[in-house]
Amino acid sequence: MNTCDYVELAVTGVRQLNPYQPGKPISELQREYGVEHVTKLASNENPLGPSPHALAAICQELDDLARYPDGNGFALKQALANKYSCSPEQITLGNGSNDILELLARAYAGVGDEIIFSQHAFAIYPIVTQVIGASAVVTPASNWGHDLSAMAAAVTDKTRLIFLANPNNPTGTSFSKQQLIGFLQHVPQHVLVVLDEAYFEYASHPAMGIDDYPDGLTLIAEHPNLIVTRTFSKAYGLAGLRVGYAISHPQIANILNRVRQPFNVNSMALKAAEVALSDLEHLRQSIELNTAGMAQYQAAFEKMRLGWISSAGNFICVAVGADAGAVYDALLHEGVIVRPVANYAMPDYLRFSIGLAEENELAIDALHKVLNK
Ligand SMILES: *Cc1c(COP(=O)(O)O)cnc(C)c1O
Repeated sequence: MNTCDYVELAVTGVRQLNPYQPGKPISELQREYGVEHVTKLASNENPLGPSPHALAAICQELDDLARYPDGNGFALKQALANKYSCSPEQITLGNGSNDILELLARAYAGVGDEIIFSQHAFAIYPIVTQVIGASAVVTPASNWGHDLSAMAAAVTDKTRLIFLANPNNPTGTSFSKQQLIGFLQHVPQHVLVVLDEAYFEYASHPAMGIDDYPDGLTLIAEHPNLIVTRTFSKAYGLAGLRVGYAISHPQIANILNRVRQPFNVNSMALKAAEVALSDLEHLRQSIELNTAGMAQYQAAFEKMRLGWISSAGNFICVAVGADAGAVYDALLHEGVIVRPVANYAMPDYLRFSIGLAEENELAIDALHKVLNK
């Protein structure tokens, strides 16, 4: 007989946790709705998939799967250090960059401490804050984006960490280098600033047309409290393998490397990421496809007279009215999975990830049909 409530036994922060809601898996839609052909544009994945060179490298790794991976990720760190002109001692590898966001919270904050992030910011920030029992300080957004002045003003004696997403997911909003420098000048050095650049490869490309978009890595030397996180999940198309990284002051990397699990990144991910880094042609194609897809959506939304939020990533939020939940559901019946963002306090919006041109067209046609436009 069970006389224990194992939910009640969990520590406070964990008990009150709302788990992360991922995009609906394709197989689930097929099972539940009986639709055969599914277009999934819900998780900001690269529609081209990974670099073919990375795939070939993964196959070679299969022979060695009985072995533990290189726990220090020597080769990948070396490749990253070469590409970004930093030292391997500044790099922390993660099981996705989300792993690193959690490591940072666990290593640098605890019960009673404060962590600042913006309204509408990426869902992992509140989760990692709550798990460790820290207090979330959520600053109001400005035009859907981060209000960096409000964030700097929210710093107190208890602040340990600030999460910034540039661009932010799901809004797609970004801030300029000038704004970021102004912000960093106002934040004391003992407060860590985590700059989440999951979409850096897209946002920094001139074709995206983002004015004065900052490369956080260029600011670390002057601002040692700045930690830049990036990922292979988005433009590099390796979301399923889970690999991301942080570049920071070596002392911060040292601490993160003590907290992480000894083999937190698997051998296939290490190899694939290393090879993917040098496939500039695949990256170029991915970014080009994204730019064209973004224009495709904007033109369609314009035609349907729907408002959207300008995005520096590989996704775009569109206002579909007060009943966005019903529109989301109707799109599922059409075999199109997008992302509802009511849990981000954006009840009127849906987020579309940019897919292949024909996938975008299917999604646009379905939206047209569902909205009667
Ligand atoms: C997708 C995403 C990440 C990266 O997640 P991974 O764990 O690297 O797959 C991080 N931050 C934001 C804002 C994202 O949208």
